[in-house]
Amino acid sequence: MTTLSSRSTRIVPSPTLSITAKAKAMAAQGIDVIDFSAGEPAQTTPNFIREAAIAAIQSGFTRYTPVPGTDELRQAIIEKFQRDQGVTYDKSQILVSCGAKHSLYNLFQALLDHGDEVIVPAPYWVSYPDQIRLADGTPVILETRETDNYAIDPSALESCITPRTKAVVLNSPCNPTGAIYSRNTLAQVATIAKKYKLLVISDEIYEKLIFGDPPFLSIVSVDPEIVPQTILVNGMSKSYAMTGWRIGYAAGPKDLMAAMSNIQGQSTSNPTSIAQKASVAALQGGNDFFKEMVQDLRPKRDLMVAELNAIPGVTCPIPSGAFYAYPNISGILGRRYTKGTITTSADLAAYLLEEAQIASVPGEPFGSPSHLRMSYTPTMETIQRGMARFQSAIQSLS
Ligand code: PMP
Ligand code: GLU
Repeated sequence: MTTLSSRSTRIVPSPTLSITAKAKAMAAQGIDVIDFSAGEPAQTTPNFIREAAIAAIQSGFTRYTPVPGTDELRQAIIEKFQRDQGVTYDKSQILVSCGAKHSLYNLFQALLDHGDEVIVPAPYWVSYPDQIRLADGTPVILETRETDNYAIDPSALESCITPRTKAVVLNSPCNPTGAIYSRNTLAQVATIAKKYKLLVISDEIYEKLIFGDPPFLSIVSVDPEIVPQTILVNGMSKSYAMTGWRIGYAAGPKDLMAAMSNIQGQSTSNPTSIAQKASVAALQGGNDFFKEMVQDLRPKRDLMVAELNAIPGVTCPIPSGAFYAYPNISGILGRRYTKGTITTSADLAAYLLEEAQIASVPGEPFGSPSHLRMSYTPTMETIQRGMARFQSAIQSLS
């Protein structure tokens, strides 16, 4: 028997990726599964981006690039941050990695020693706590409330801070809630981070997938004084429908970015040269694609939220961004079916998958056990069919 490192046993398989894999396996067996678990856009990468990759291959752009990314891509990222966040970074402050997940991995590895703490507001994206644990750190969970639209309460944030606190994670628009932080919340977090000299890790990967109310704001745009203490994390996956290409990027203090780049240089080296070329085309390609994506998502969001709210025992606020509905299902807990009682969100997700062939992600791994995450990326017709199945599955509970 192999003795595994304690590090490797500290974490669980990514629940979002595992449920999506299970739904895909069921579909491959011919089961008519409706997949609301996916964390990716339904669209294929826009043609002009694919063309840029083909041109990169044809021209032989197939060798190692500098570890932190090509000059051309880092320049395109610098221009993106100037345009969208109003902040000017130097090339030495930009690191391109194999997805934003990899950017975050490098960041926690470069930042944390045993016992260092990172504050993570709940509900949170599943990978933050596990990546912190993998880096020997301790995630400190800051509860937020659905009734406050998941805003961060400044005094609750302050009460999580200890001498070991190194950073706080922000994710706006949020996966899984779709909530967007207000100017006021961001200003308060910046004030506290400055007072206690904490780093702010701002994961803005859904910034372009927003419905207009409230507007998306980056903490660095709200309070420019926080720039030297902030790491912006972003990527191509969501805004450009490029999940398979694996390009993410981060911007932040030069010494930290250099340490992250060293870790990358000793592990993956540069991200794929061809995907970097495609990302330059994407970042320079204007706003048409996001606008189309948001136009496509809006009626789907409205349909799913309306259908969820029509189910007795389920309530669902309207998400402001990303592509997830996050219904509160606490009114269903305790109900029974022939094989048992639904006592947790995980039980409900398992019941829906087995009895109604609907894949969704339970709330527990997002740190909120009264919820279920459902992506509204499938077609209107699929959402309608899935919601009808959901309703009848709930009706048949006693
Ligand atoms: N942050 C959040 C909030 C996400 O939902 C995702 C989706 N996987 C990521 C980061 C990482 O995305 P990727 O690695 O595909 O860039
Ligand atoms: N971020 C997506 C999700 O939350 C993709 C899967 C993952 O990387 O965890 O479903």
